[in-house]
Amino acid sequence: MSTESTTNTDIFQLLSQFDHQKIAFCNDEKIGLKAIITIHDTTLGPAIGGTRILEYKTEQEVIKDSLRLSKAMTYKSAITGVNLGGGNAVIIGNNSIIKSESLLRRFGQFVNELNGTYITSLDIGTTPRDMEIIKMETPHVAGLPASVGGSGDSSPFTAKSVYYGIKAGIKEMFGNDSLAGRTILVQGSGQVGADLVSLLRRENAKVYVSDIVVDRMVYVANQYGAEVVQANNIYNMDVDVYAPCALGGTLNDDTIPKLKCKIIAGSANNQLKDEDRNGRMLLERGILYAPDYLINAGGLISCYSELAGYSNSRTLELAENIYEATRSVIQKSKLEQISAHQAANRIAEDRINSIKIINNHRRL
Ligand code: NAD
Repeated sequence: MSTESTTNTDIFQLLSQFDHQKIAFCNDEKIGLKAIITIHDTTLGPAIGGTRILEYKTEQEVIKDSLRLSKAMTYKSAITGVNLGGGNAVIIGNNSIIKSESLLRRFGQFVNELNGTYITSLDIGTTPRDMEIIKMETPHVAGLPASVGGSGDSSPFTAKSVYYGIKAGIKEMFGNDSLAGRTILVQGSGQVGADLVSLLRRENAKVYVSDIVVDRMVYVANQYGAEVVQANNIYNMDVDVYAPCALGGTLNDDTIPKLKCKIIAGSANNQLKDEDRNGRMLLERGILYAPDYLINAGGLISCYSELAGYSNSRTLELAENIYEATRSVIQKSKLEQISAHQAANRIAEDRINSIKIINNHRRL
């Protein structure tokens, strides 16, 4: 990995550009640990964010990615209504080569030095078991296995939050939120997609499912009574809802003009290839868009619930808030004629700014 491209000035420029509070560099040569922890904002509460173990081409890329992800977590926490801020951590390297108990525990010690301003959780290359190991050195961890009181697999909650996002969109478009007879295309029949198909079919929606892995798609369709569609030609399907639950960037200059759906609501991260332009295109076409980072917040919600002593019923209760939050975003988008993504950002910023004011009073 190249180290030459990042100078001190670059780092401070990046911190200002992404408007961050803190970046911590963690280094232990004996253990082979090189990591960074970024904290974007702690106005609403401690900064939460996953730890990813990943190789990058340059150090600049690591820093930029971590700053981008921690800022995104600030917005996600704010719009979801939980009392958490945004953070992120990256342990640099190949997961299958560098991961060891000592590396994870040493990393846990660095997390602990931040005195609870950063809470770590799962991301690419880390598992609930890894969180259990990190917890040997710090209490500031979420995403532990269910067997030790953690929230375990978050995908059922992500599916649930997407389900509430879909219902909010249907309510706005049709005046009631019944799913019976509504046509819904679920792109991706993985962990979230399969659970979502199950939830939608329970309310008698007509569900189409597509995946590039044919066996999985057929299995999920048969299991829940959905219909399969070929993955290559789905964007012009005349359905009420398109639920992207596979990959990012599917809402772009190429696909948006083809869309015949009325609502878009799914779990995939970064669905809008260009947030501003493509978000605006959806608004102009009159397609309701439930912002991805709001309605896929089931994982964040289950971690939040875990921090207060995990309870399944509390997590489901918190996931239900996604319904009203999505409606508020859609209404603001309509009223102010701004994209739904922009409306969500503004609601998140307003919440942070208003709590900043009361926090200042508390410190006086
Ligand atoms: P997954 O890997 O279990 O499932 C993704 C599925 O999409 C796979 O079956 C894959 O074959 C399919 N796929 C890939 N490319 C496709 C294409 N071009 N057309 C159709 N299908 C395609 O992942 P998941 O955990 O179900 O997550 C789904 C999406 O939601 C991902 O983008 C993920 O980042 C996002 N997400 C997941 C969670 C969670 O809790 N799991 C939380 C937030 C966001």
